[in-house]
Amino acid sequence: NRQLTLASRPAGAPGKDNFHLKLDSVPQIEEGQLLLRTVYLSLDPYMRGRMSDAKSYAEPVAIGEVMVGGTVNRVVASRHPDYQAGDWVVSYTVGWQDYGVSDGSMLFKLNPEHGPVSHALGVLGMPGFTAYMGLKDIGQPEPGETLVVAAATGPVGATVAQIGKIMGCRVVAIAGGEQKRQHLEAMGVDVALDHRDPDFAQKLAEACPKGIDIYFENVGGAVFRAVLPLLNFRARIPLCGTVSGYNAVDLPEGPDHLDMAWSILQTRRVKVQGFIIFDDYGHRYEEFAEEMARWVAEGKIEYLEQIIDGLEAAPEGLRDLLEGKNFGKLVVRVGPD
Ligand code: NDP
Repeated sequence: NRQLTLASRPAGAPGKDNFHLKLDSVPQIEEGQLLLRTVYLSLDPYMRGRMSDAKSYAEPVAIGEVMVGGTVNRVVASRHPDYQAGDWVVSYTVGWQDYGVSDGSMLFKLNPEHGPVSHALGVLGMPGFTAYMGLKDIGQPEPGETLVVAAATGPVGATVAQIGKIMGCRVVAIAGGEQKRQHLEAMGVDVALDHRDPDFAQKLAEACPKGIDIYFENVGGAVFRAVLPLLNFRARIPLCGTVSGYNAVDLPEGPDHLDMAWSILQTRRVKVQGFIIFDDYGHRYEEFAEEMARWVAEGKIEYLEQIIDGLEAAPEGLRDLLEGKNFGKLVVRVGPD
């Protein structure tokens, strides 16, 4: 059993040196347990937070512990009444290793006849759920409104942009680089922008002639600063993440925009609501699962996935994800089907 454990806490970008590859025997199971073999491991921005011991909504991974993550697994052996060998499941307790033991908690069955099982780590799983609840419940989109979202080729942003179109919004989608920008255009958004373009702020203003009604916040930083002056009266901001700062070791340089931001938010009566998907919306998972499966089956929502090979590729994959070098939902193939 290969395991990637946390060896040290990163300062800045995470890398290979922060992990230790450990070889252990395949665990044994007891009554009520199942043995799971990992086929796919999801890489997600939140993992950077778990590597750090700063105060957060979840406990950090301890040094020497197996790194956490969502996985798609095959049941190898079961002494649990609800599962049989051969079943496909999604687990949130196995993490970065070949084999894990589960007692059935945080475990969800998958039907491989419903499409590629890895999609349960993206559009049909946690990131898709995040996009769905954040946009529908906090964003409250109305037809004709202008919706802006960045990290828009990633699993959260791409899903937000496409749900926005289904809801009748004018969608302005943002990503890093020309290749991603063109992909967004092909996906059918109204305007696609590259946040690395030196004229980005001006192009965003031109793309939003009636201002911004919903800003789905994935990135923070320069994108947020360009959005601020364009926010409309009673705009909504589902505050989902601020990935531009996850590797930061210091406060950003330059003038402090905080007072200006507060003033804009107050005088324009903007609603900003942070959320943590399973903590806040776990009870609404069924509603999401049903509607999203239908949209995907009907071809209303497309999904872009990038699969890299081998557990040992995970540390560099995570580093690349935080720097925008991924193109689509980043998944590691850990073992054969
Ligand atoms: P992605 O696959 O989209 O990966 C992150 C992307 O962020 C990168 O590909 C890059 O895209 C973009 N990015 C990185 N740095 C910057 C920057 N300085 N400015 C603008 N964009 C940047 O990730 P996910 O779809 O999985 O997650 C998106 C967001 O949602 C994250 O903030 C994540 O933490 C958050 N999230 C929150 C949850 C919650 O419960 N609140 C649950 C799940 C996710 P590009 O090349 O386009 O710049």
